[in-house]
Amino acid sequence: MELRDLAIKKLEERGVKLQDIADITFSLQDPYHKDLCYGECIDMVNQVLDKREVIHTILTGIALDEVAEKGLIDKDICDLIKNDNGLYGMDEILALGITNLFGSIALTNFGYTDKNKPGIIGVIDKEGKEGIKCNTFLDDIVGAIAASAAARLAHTRGNE
Ligand code: MG
Repeated sequence: MELRDLAIKKLEERGVKLQDIADITFSLQDPYHKDLCYGECIDMVNQVLDKREVIHTILTGIALDEVAEKGLIDKDICDLIKNDNGLYGMDEILALGITNLFGSIALTNFGYTDKNKPGIIGVIDKEGKEGIKCNTFLDDIVGAIAASAAARLAHTRGNE
């Protein structure tokens, strides 16, 4: 299996479909375009996923959530990840590896998704907080992809 397909499969296994990410991209960009359609947002999400660095970030972040969930790393670091400690910050840092590829619009929109947890981000954040799963890295990865797709869309359309 190609790594790109594996990344999409892992996202789905963790409860995130590309459509969910495109929904967030739509909500981020809809205020700025009169005729924005959802299909464009799906296209942009797919283009973000064409980058190898993005695929590597997705796979690495999900792997860290999974090893923490299974308790396969040292207890102290496992607790930090599982409890989604607000001062941990490595989940946001990893996700910046995605937004850094797409510029300032990606960065500022990522900050917005991190704060406001729109759509599926709120769902996976809640699952994590309830201790059902460990989604500490996943929520930031999803926010970063949605924000990067928003940036890609903004630059593709230019100033209207
Ligand atoms: Mg997080």
